[in-house]
Amino acid sequence: HAPLKAKLAELDASKLTITLSETLKPVPPPETLVFGKTMTDHMLYVTYEPEVGWSAPEIKPYGPLTLDPASSCFQYCPNVFEGMKAYTGPDGKPRLFRPELNMARMRRSADRVALPRFDTDQLLILIRRIVEIEARWVPKAKGHSLYIRPTIIGTRPSLGVQASDHAVLYVILSPTGPYFRTGSRPVALLAVDEHVRSWPGGTGGFKLALNYAPTFMPAQLAAKKGYDQILWLLGEDRRITEAGAMNFFAVVKRDDGDLDVITPPIDGTILPGVTRDSCLALASAHPSRTSLPNLPNSLVLHTHEQLITIPQLFEWSEQGRLLEAFCVGTAVVVATVGRIGYDDKDVVLPKYEGGMGPVAKALYERIVDLQEGKIEWEGWSVPC
Ligand code: PMP
Repeated sequence: HAPLKAKLAELDASKLTITLSETLKPVPPPETLVFGKTMTDHMLYVTYEPEVGWSAPEIKPYGPLTLDPASSCFQYCPNVFEGMKAYTGPDGKPRLFRPELNMARMRRSADRVALPRFDTDQLLILIRRIVEIEARWVPKAKGHSLYIRPTIIGTRPSLGVQASDHAVLYVILSPTGPYFRTGSRPVALLAVDEHVRSWPGGTGGFKLALNYAPTFMPAQLAAKKGYDQILWLLGEDRRITEAGAMNFFAVVKRDDGDLDVITPPIDGTILPGVTRDSCLALASAHPSRTSLPNLPNSLVLHTHEQLITIPQLFEWSEQGRLLEAFCVGTAVVVATVGRIGYDDKDVVLPKYEGGMGPVAKALYERIVDLQEGKIEWEGWSVPC
């Protein structure tokens, strides 16, 4: 007879223990916040071990981790993270925005690097608990929020090159202000094809730590040339994948006066962004199911998940049809693109009063209002 295998413990929010910090840190004034610098008082911490499964989750004072130096996270990078935010609602209580999408993406990412599986519904319950405990850290000012960074790392203490059967899952939180403090400055993108962020069959569609380090050196080169972010290209046709760590949209005028709102398709080379999905849904619903702020109801937006190549973008610009380009993601929400450099030439986009084009601005305003619970739509904003 084969020996009976002990049942591995599942991630279970009902086993949570809470140890509150004895000294609480002062919350910095919102206008001084720098993205990702200040951490709150507590963190969520759970471990996975073979033959045991998931430990009882702990919320405990924020502090260093103690890990074996041979842990696989330091060598082979089986590391996954998420980025989501809590916002203060009109009732003064924290809310989350479409958190189930972050949980589903985290599960797909963890599966891709063969980390132990966990119940994402239980993780979401735990995230809600820690946000509640840290409620005084959720900024109240418009455009401010508490950034939430769920992380899972492989901690197998061995140099053998194989899947990590040990893991640490933790969640840390950091209060943040709006990405652009003074209006919205259009960003300059440098389209790059000598360095590639993702490729067919690769891991660009997952939120894996190993996708990010290789972008730092090219980003420094782009900054030296005076560009804010890289527009990542792929393949002979030089198709656009993403901009920096954001999804990319172009707004193109059609012959009939309607607008095409175009973003590259989810084909494995693009991270399926929550903001991207929200922009597509909102733009497709205008004006039949929602009327976007300051856009005429007579304006029809046709959304497309479709390849965009750099030569095509330059051609639209020459024809005067490229009205807007913008980048979207949780940190920035929507950032307008001012120019795109490629091959020593720049495409300069039309300038708009206040910095943002009408479609970018309408999506930005609507998404922030939804996140902050000022309006309700499709149950996207959920109280903690
Ligand atoms: N692309 C990449 C590579 C990213 O890291 C992010 C940030 N998560 C995004 C796009 C935007 O995704 P989201 O809207 O879910 O933040």
